[in-house]
Amino acid sequence: MMMDGEKYKASLKKMRPNIYKWGKLIEDVTTDPATRLHVQSVSLSYDASFDPEKASIFTAKSHLTGATAHRWNTLMGSADDVWGNSKMKRAQYRQTGTCQGATCAGWTGINVLWAVTAEMDKEYGTNYHERVKNYFQFMEDNALALSGAITDAKGNRSLKPSQQPNKDSNLHVKEVLPDGIVIRGYKAQICGVAAAHEIIIVPGSGYGESEKDFCVACAVPRDAKGLTIVETRRPSDSRDEEEGWDVPKAGNITQAFLIFDDVFVPNDRVFMNGEFKYSGKIIGYFTAIYRAAIGACVAGQGDVMAGAAINMARANGLNQKVFQDKLNQMAINNEITYAVGLGAMLAGKSHFSGLWIPDMLLAHVNKTQVAKLPYETKVITQDISGGIGETGCFPSYKDFQSKEYGETLFKMLEAGTDGETRARAARLVEWLTVGGGIPGCMHGGGSPDGARMVVKAMEPWEAFANDAKRIAGITADLSEPQVKK
Ligand SMILES: Cc1cc2nc3c(=O)[nH]c(=O)nc-3n(C[C@H](O)[C@H](O)[C@H](O)COP(=O)(O)OP(=O)(O)OC[C@H]3O[C@@H](n4cnc5c(N)ncnc54)[C@H](O)[C@@H]3O)c2cc1C
Repeated sequence: MMMDGEKYKASLKKMRPNIYKWGKLIEDVTTDPATRLHVQSVSLSYDASFDPEKASIFTAKSHLTGATAHRWNTLMGSADDVWGNSKMKRAQYRQTGTCQGATCAGWTGINVLWAVTAEMDKEYGTNYHERVKNYFQFMEDNALALSGAITDAKGNRSLKPSQQPNKDSNLHVKEVLPDGIVIRGYKAQICGVAAAHEIIIVPGSGYGESEKDFCVACAVPRDAKGLTIVETRRPSDSRDEEEGWDVPKAGNITQAFLIFDDVFVPNDRVFMNGEFKYSGKIIGYFTAIYRAAIGACVAGQGDVMAGAAINMARANGLNQKVFQDKLNQMAINNEITYAVGLGAMLAGKSHFSGLWIPDMLLAHVNKTQVAKLPYETKVITQDISGGIGETGCFPSYKDFQSKEYGETLFKMLEAGTDGETRARAARLVEWLTVGGGIPGCMHGGGSPDGARMVVKAMEPWEAFANDAKRIAGITADLSEPQVKK
């Protein structure tokens, strides 16, 4: 089943309100200023599934029924499918300038569980895979938007979850009942929850036996009993809820803190419960898919930054060609992260369950570049725009409406174009480069240091040294010197 944006919004309206912001309960996520833009941007993806020009990007063939489904409800079974994920992400960013959490991490999570449950069943004789299969059908039948909760609140980073003074710092299984499990604890910084129907939960890291309680994977309705959600405050918030050009019109990332206070999860929604040996597999497969695709997210936002910089140049009265070298560098940065991700996908391999897993080394290399190049692109955008874009240093929309001085302010802003056009162009630059439009290049999808550790572990350093020795004609022993302690 597929639904359009209107039906999607109607389905969210039916859910129990359990999301708070500014100390108040959000009654309707589709209209509340804190969440409506994010919901609106996801609704555009639902609509795009029916648009003849965009449908090939926003839909895919269901591996269960063969029917056409929203792409974010399908299994990524080939390099083409994971590339489809990238194409969709870049298109989504081009549409709204920002991240669409509700069609991203949860979808990746359930795909990864498709593979890992097949492995667990093989070793333990469990029936997790059948449950994931049924959940896939449920997701497709109801055209669900899913967010993905991996990151725990964690607590002290130098202690294991079981050593934390507050066990709730990491989500865990509190009780196992005949018909399900009870989970409690915190997941933090989860994107797109307000726009999602369901949350896919997976462990925050790979763990050993001592951390078995924290090895839980399951699906929970966003409005589950016992779940309280608090939307985070973001740098552009005071503006987002203003009027006129002070607020972006298209999208706006939402992120949430999730408090699970004894939430019951029935067995058919539990996909891992204590099988610690496979928790690392979940993280490994997840980061391979996610870090390959995230290059497309930042490339899509980079495309918008290039456009925003061109608009600013023109609004300032300058030609694009004045800045062409800088614009070229922006495009190169965008295409590098897109292409390294694509390389990871093409160099990937098929898991016996049918999931396509991108090449891990290349996916992690991509993460290190995603944590670097978009910042340079942002700097160039500010460079081209001038101070008006860099710091948003011009008065608010409301001041421009003043009978006393509004008209003069407009005159002050006039440059290559009228004052309002220049103000709108500048607010977008500000939002993209220092505001809420920043898509989490550094830590979204995990920290770049983690990615560097994988690169270190996966590169065959000794083989490199041996090749270089052979090419240089070195025959002497050149093994690692013993360092005296
Ligand atoms: C925009 C955005 C969107 C996000 N969306 C989601 C989402 O949808 N779902 C989700 O689950 N998560 C999401 N996240 C969370 C993201 O995955 C985490 O921020 C990321 O994994 C880093 O975790 P942290 O923030 O707790 O940082 P920390 O773990 O506190 O890391 C801070 C620094 O300390 C280092 N560090 C941490 N622990 C150690 C240690 N023991 N030893 C040495 N160094 C250490 C890290 O490498 C890093 O450099 C999102 C984040 C952002 C910014």
